[in-house]
Amino acid sequence: MSPLTALHSRPGGLGCSGETLCNTVLALNPIGLQVALSKNSEKMFQRILVANRGEIALRVIRACRDLGIQSVAVFSQADRGAHYLTLADEAICIGPPAAADSYLMINRIISAAEIGNVQAIHPGYGFLSENSHFAEVCRTCKIEFIGPSHEAMAKLGDKVSAKLIAKEANVPTVPGSDGLLTDENEAIRIAAQIGYPVLIKATAGGGGKGMRIGTDEASLKTGLKSAALEAESAFKNGGVYLEKYIARPRHVEVQVIADLHGNAFHLWERDCSLQRRHQKLVEESPAPNLPQKVREAMCAAAVRLVKTAGYTNAGTCEFLVDADHNFYFIEVNARIQVEHPVSELVTGIDLVQQQIRIASGEPLTWKQKSIPCSGSAIEVRINAEDPANNFRGSPGKITKLRVPGGPGVRWDSHVHEGYSVPPYYDSLIGKLIVHRPTRAESIATMRRALAEFCVEGIKTTIPLLREIFENQDFIDGNVDTTYIERTWSFTGGAK
Ligand code: ADP
Repeated sequence: MSPLTALHSRPGGLGCSGETLCNTVLALNPIGLQVALSKNSEKMFQRILVANRGEIALRVIRACRDLGIQSVAVFSQADRGAHYLTLADEAICIGPPAAADSYLMINRIISAAEIGNVQAIHPGYGFLSENSHFAEVCRTCKIEFIGPSHEAMAKLGDKVSAKLIAKEANVPTVPGSDGLLTDENEAIRIAAQIGYPVLIKATAGGGGKGMRIGTDEASLKTGLKSAALEAESAFKNGGVYLEKYIARPRHVEVQVIADLHGNAFHLWERDCSLQRRHQKLVEESPAPNLPQKVREAMCAAAVRLVKTAGYTNAGTCEFLVDADHNFYFIEVNARIQVEHPVSELVTGIDLVQQQIRIASGEPLTWKQKSIPCSGSAIEVRINAEDPANNFRGSPGKITKLRVPGGPGVRWDSHVHEGYSVPPYYDSLIGKLIVHRPTRAESIATMRRALAEFCVEGIKTTIPLLREIFENQDFIDGNVDTTYIERTWSFTGGAK
């Protein structure tokens, strides 16, 4: 019998057990915001499968433990024996090291859910987290997918359709083609209208793939072909569209959260402008030097967007902000983000716990006005890569590890001394996050924490991050998404 048949034939499938797990009526978070905990939640899960690895798998395992829920981890052969797996209640091997043969295999994840006897799956970020087919298979198998419905995910996962929904919700978008480009002449005509430079983007794009800048008609034509080819091979969808290329924008995103009962809130914004190769390195909340009116307008726009899309659970609306503080929606990330801890620290809300609660049917009983944005939180990504060598991955054994601590410091990571960073996956080995009353204090604490940090055996982003936190433009909140590539020499600080 196939695992799917097994699921279907089991009386009651993998539906909720009706057991009571949560007995608390109300809890106050550290800053006094009332966090709804339902009494005797009828539907709270007993066991959750964590369909991910590394840092985020451990984050979800910890949230489960905090909620009194059992967790079932999955692992590839490359992750066998990793310490974080022992912190779950059970761990199931799902295949060989390559993600395509393990963490991306829907049937193996569903089989693990069956073996682990879980009622829900948390997908983390990356891998299957934004795969609407996976979310649909979960529903078919009567396993709760901890995230949005597959319908909402499909609508917002496609960037062209997300932009149409944004327009419907009266959310500003980057000027460009109204939908997918049908031919070269259409692209040339639109580019002439909006003016060069333009950005060719893949509707299924992610991780900066399928993106090309067109500075004139000739580069537009070649860019169209290469972007479509790259998108076709990366996403099996070669559809591309055109956007005005915003010069030196800031990347500001809004954390949203919505329950299954029509309540949607924002948890303020994160500035993620400091990037390398379109990948974030530093994230912070609140965004520095962003006028309050603009923040509020962006946050309200994000809530309008998720309501219009019928989106539920945690999600992020990403915007670009130009030099005049005009903001433009670019995409929705329909999952928990790597950088979610900064929003947790300024609001006092545990986002992963809330994701689980929402999926179990609990309503959010907050008032938007009561959600604080308290102090300043900054996260840096510690990646196993070599900044001096074009950020090339640096897998291998961590021979020495001393992590920082003390007041205002949080370290979210699955690694330890003796851990071997496998070469198969994302290079993120941990997130160092600080939270202090002011941005200046956060920067000081981050400097101190980065100075305490000692990792040997592999190359990491730590030396670059130390330089960034001494950089005057960063300290002044005066950087954009192109800053690192434009200004950094990687051999000794800013050019
Ligand atoms: P992906 O999903 O591939 O990460 P995004 O649409 O989120 O792509 O864009 C990633 C990054 O690319 C943004 O953070 C920004 O730095 C840059 N970018 C995207 N759209 C534009 C644009 N229209 N103008 C300038 N930069 C852009």
